[in-house]
Amino acid sequence: MAYDPLRISRSKRSDINVSFEFFPPNSPQMESVLWEAIHRLAPLSPNFVSVTYGAGGSTRERTHTTVSRIVKETPLKPAAHLTCVAASKADVDEVARAYWEAGVRHIVALRGDPKEGIGTQFTPHPDGYQNSTDLIAGLRRIADFEITVSAYPEKHPESPTLDQDIDVLKAKIDAGATRAITQFFFENDLYLRYLDRVRAAGITIPILPGIVPVQNFKQTASFAKKTGASVPQWLADRFEGLEDDVATRRLIAASVAAEQVLDLVDHGITDFHFYTMNRADLVYAICHLLGLRPQVNATA
Ligand code: FAD
Repeated sequence: MAYDPLRISRSKRSDINVSFEFFPPNSPQMESVLWEAIHRLAPLSPNFVSVTYGAGGSTRERTHTTVSRIVKETPLKPAAHLTCVAASKADVDEVARAYWEAGVRHIVALRGDPKEGIGTQFTPHPDGYQNSTDLIAGLRRIADFEITVSAYPEKHPESPTLDQDIDVLKAKIDAGATRAITQFFFENDLYLRYLDRVRAAGITIPILPGIVPVQNFKQTASFAKKTGASVPQWLADRFEGLEDDVATRRLIAASVAAEQVLDLVDHGITDFHFYTMNRADLVYAICHLLGLRPQVNATA
């Protein structure tokens, strides 16, 4: 069979960049699971690793502890997620200052979901930041943080239109954001068309595709529904009948994510953000397919 020059994913690449997202552990057992994942993925030299901030600031201490430990014990560059839900400006500023003092230079700045859950009306704290744009401006006043924000290829569920959503992204950039990570998606066309519209709107910052390896289809599909990310029928079909077959599910999850990521490479995408769910194996395998190899001096 003739070699297809359009499959650039099949040539050895040295221009692929990855970043990994973790969530803060809530038990000693989950803590060892997280650190096992960090130790396994660190030698792949990610550009940065990020640690989420629980809904309504519920993991404030745990996020701080995890990020600080990454700074102290690894060569990785951590980014701390931070939201402004249910907190005064003074509280949020205090968290941000503590990050700066701990050596954290990168914040993923988000509005966050209302305390009552995704889909309910967001009401800012009376003394709080009004939205993510306002939060970014506040962070810029505190210190010279690198600021990453969210982006929504299928628009944020509360945004009336995709154009308005892109206007909000623009406002976040004007306030100081220099990178965006997308909500996860499964149809690459959605992301590629979004990228076209974002670029046509004059936005030039990197928009990293957020890739979620589907560890548990039912869970992912229910989360996707809440966040406004569509789940195509073909994806449901691929996991059909595997509810009690963890081993096969994992193989399917790896192949689905590999297919998605390699197709994006073939469309010229070089930077990827992985929602790891604190599990390394699938993400490690996909990074290997992308051509990444462990660097000896980068172990955590
Ligand atoms: P925004 O971009 O702020 O948009 C939210 C809504 O506000 C949109 O509908 C927008 O149109 C509207 N809006 C109107 N005017 C403005 C304006 N002037 N400025 C800004 N927005 C305006 N949640 C957590 O609780 N913790 C996390 O760690 C976390 N990490 C995330 C990481 C990524 C990569 C993504 C994509 C999401 C993450 N979330 C997290 C979820 C996020 O908090 C929710 O989706 C939340 O509902 C919106 O916050 P945002 O900053 O993503 O949205």
